Amino acid sequence: MVLEELAVRLNDREYKNWLQAGQCLLLLRDGLLPFTSQHMRAFHGDLLNHNTELRRPCETSCCRPRGSTFSSACRVCSEWQAAILRHHRQPGATVNWDNCSPPHWRTDHWEVAKAYMPRGQGKVKGADQCDASALLNLINYCDCFRSVEPKFVREVIRYRNELMHSCELRVKDEWMRRYQMALKNLLRQFSYVPHMDTVGKHIEEMLTVDLTIYVSGLDRMDAAELDGLQCDSVSQWEISATSISQWEAELLAERLKELLHAAGAGDDDDGDDTKTQDAEQLKSLGGFLQANRDLSERFSAELQAINSLEGRR
Ligand SMILES: [Zn+2]
Repeated sequence: MVLEELAVRLNDREYKNWLQAGQCLLLLRDGLLPFTSQHMRAFHGDLLNHNTELRRPCETSCCRPRGSTFSSACRVCSEWQAAILRHHRQPGATVNWDNCSPPHWRTDHWEVAKAYMPRGQGKVKGADQCDASALLNLINYCDCFRSVEPKFVREVIRYRNELMHSCELRVKDEWMRRYQMALKNLLRQFSYVPHMDTVGKHIEEMLTVDLTIYVSGLDRMDAAELDGLQCDSVSQWEISATSISQWEAELLAERLKELLHAAGAGDDDDGDDTKTQDAEQLKSLGGFLQANRDLSERFSAELQAINSLEGRR
């Protein structure tokens, strides 16, 4: 039974921590989504209002950047490129131009936003497809978010990276305490945004809820009760377990997407160390999925991709 395998995983405290910390990122993402989208829309409108050149369509309609370079831009796209750089909060930082489709800069504020995000956003078509890392980087890099102190944003990005790059998908209680503090500091920056207060409360709840309660509930029940699903506490557990299982899948999918993208991008300028690290993490994540029947079924396509990548090495 799928939920039983999940229950076994939830009995591992550090894996449970990993899951709860990750769920906080999903809650944060949902909270930041309307905020960032609204700001980017206004920022995009301002750019168009202040520079008539930006209102003209791309001259070739096929200007296309490669990696972090965009050298063959037409006049209009060059103008956009310059405007994007002018509003960068950290001039000199790498810009992943290939996240963007420049001919759409004029009409789509999110294509502009993607210039301020980590690599791998090329296929993302709208704000709702972005993860927490993408939105946090956008806030960190685009100066339309100057009201937010970047140091607190970077702190959460650092924790997010530690969490998602944790080879064993496990984090310690002490790490959780520091992470909680970093989230609090960041959320304080948004105290003037009405709905962020609720997001903060949900994050607090998520960090204090004990997922193992449900597991011990399951342990106490015998198989007959489980089959019948008549007991209220069981159906409650079913609901909770289903949602836990969904967060878990979403988090694992995010990590897989990132690693598979890195593995597929053969021509980027990563060092060999990063490549080896990514390959090892992909292998270890593949091993983890394989060892859990429910996950190996859910992610069978990704597992195939991992295996074929390993075959090429
Ligand atoms: Zn162009």
